[in-house]
Amino acid sequence: MLLRWLRDRRRHALLERPFPPAWTRYLERNMGHYAALSEREQATLRELVQVFVAEKHWEGCGGLELTDEIRVTIAGQACLLILGHDHDLYRKVDTILVYPRAVVPRRPTLAQAAAGTPTRGPMPVLGEAHVRGPVILAWDAALRGGRRPRDGHNLVYHEFAHKLDMLDGAADGTPALASRDDYERWTRVCQREYEALQRAIDRGARTFLDRYAATNPAEFFAVATEHFFEQPREMRREHPALYELLRDFYRQDPGARALPRRARARR
Ligand SMILES: [Zn+2]
Repeated sequence: MLLRWLRDRRRHALLERPFPPAWTRYLERNMGHYAALSEREQATLRELVQVFVAEKHWEGCGGLELTDEIRVTIAGQACLLILGHDHDLYRKVDTILVYPRAVVPRRPTLAQAAAGTPTRGPMPVLGEAHVRGPVILAWDAALRGGRRPRDGHNLVYHEFAHKLDMLDGAADGTPALASRDDYERWTRVCQREYEALQRAIDRGARTFLDRYAATNPAEFFAVATEHFFEQPREMRREHPALYELLRDFYRQDPGARALPRRARARR
């Protein structure tokens, strides 16, 4: 109770401060979806970013020196997922580790493998999310994903979708939902789509959803989230039930927004 009061007071003070103009430029430059949001949505996103940047523990790894641009670019993409909700959905996100780039895997030591802890050596893959641990991201991949808003791939959306899924303690492709009806609908829609995807892959057919989605239900949800934000109209056409499910879950309708442009800036 007291903690919540302190937190709310801190947030309030934080939001009294103006959003730094440089941060807006980072969002415009590095997050293709920012420009496609309505003014009201942009304002909400900026508030979410301000709190997210301040409250999470950020750490640069593998020699990466963290900058505001890195934090804001990652926070902007992460907070798009909670635009229709609030920070509560990320209450289990404490730490974000950022590596400069993804590198070839190095075998974890037996002790590390047994403990299931992430190593702080070279970044093994593009990103990871752990149930009771950090979100780990490669900065080059996070930036690339933000600047290419329509290719169907976004590392930050993917990893933070895993965190939403894990909020109820299980990485099983089903996030915490409000009612029994919601769970029934979720299971029905996702199971049907997941099985259809596996069948399509088995017969070598073209699939709209990236095939990685067929790995397991957790990956299915994370990959579907990437398509939902990056290719909403195509998804609405090809997988209407899945699109509507995610639209209701995220409480936003990316298919109704203007088409995002590939981020303009170069560097
Ligand atoms: Zn994944």
